[in-house]
Amino acid sequence: MGKLDGRTIIVTGAARGQGEQEARLFVAEGANVVVADVLDDQGGALAKELGALYVHLDVGSEEDWRAALAAAKEAYGRVDGLVNNAGILRFNSLVDTPLDEFMQVVRVNQVGCFLGMKTVAPEMEDGGTIVNTASYTAVTGMAAVGTYAATKHAILGLTRVAALELAPRGIRVNAMCPGAIDTAMSNPAQLDPEADAEETSRALDGLYRKLVPLGRIGRPQEVARLALFLTSEDSSYITGQPFVIDGGWLAGVSVI
Ligand code: NAD
Repeated sequence: MGKLDGRTIIVTGAARGQGEQEARLFVAEGANVVVADVLDDQGGALAKELGALYVHLDVGSEEDWRAALAAAKEAYGRVDGLVNNAGILRFNSLVDTPLDEFMQVVRVNQVGCFLGMKTVAPEMEDGGTIVNTASYTAVTGMAAVGTYAATKHAILGLTRVAALELAPRGIRVNAMCPGAIDTAMSNPAQLDPEADAEETSRALDGLYRKLVPLGRIGRPQEVARLALFLTSEDSSYITGQPFVIDGGWLAGVSVI
């Protein structure tokens, strides 16, 4: 028995990184997974490997969302879960951030999460689940990522409101707040075919040893296990909450 047997779950930004690991784990737990991304080659190959469905979905496009939902229902007849995982990061101080860049990040991170819930929730089975991917920067500040932090704070607001509004249908809505996770977002060397991925991960562990109590960067598989918890019956009495998964980073600072 898998923890998601018979359930259909849409995972956005699932072509790589945390979304990919969520798709892999959910399939292993018996779910029909809809791999949604703008990286069609990578997402399509993953879906083929997993026996899942790939859909092209730019999360900032309402039209794409409608088409993705229709494709999921056509393939599997129902939708029981959504993981809003797609996201982008831009580095800039607030005063140097061009409005276009601010709006680009808002469109993917914040509007994408909003449109996902707005489109999918009305057609989701009662008792379904929504997991929104926020961030450590949803609950604290971080210099040079102000736009990103603003959108991730907004995702927590959306999560809480959606949890209240969807609770009468038994739909639970929670958010994950990962610290630094070893994906292309924190480790762009992963996108360089020439780079040694294990070596760059070890270098990042060295950097985070000083910052994070558990002494290393997180792994996308660890976030996928939290997403599974929040998508399965194991979290049946939990809704409207942010879950920090950061190796203790947010706990405080050590002065000695
Ligand atoms: P990643 O860059 O490897 O993955 C992001 C995925 O989102 C990619 O597959 C990308 O193609 C997809 N994507 C980007 N724009 C999209 C769009 N408009 N429509 C659909 N898909 C789109 O990074 P990741 O770490 O796997 O990121 C997953 C989520 O985790 C993001 O929301 C990110 O903000 C969040 N997060 C990451 C970290 C970290 O350190 N890696 C920390 C906290 C939160």
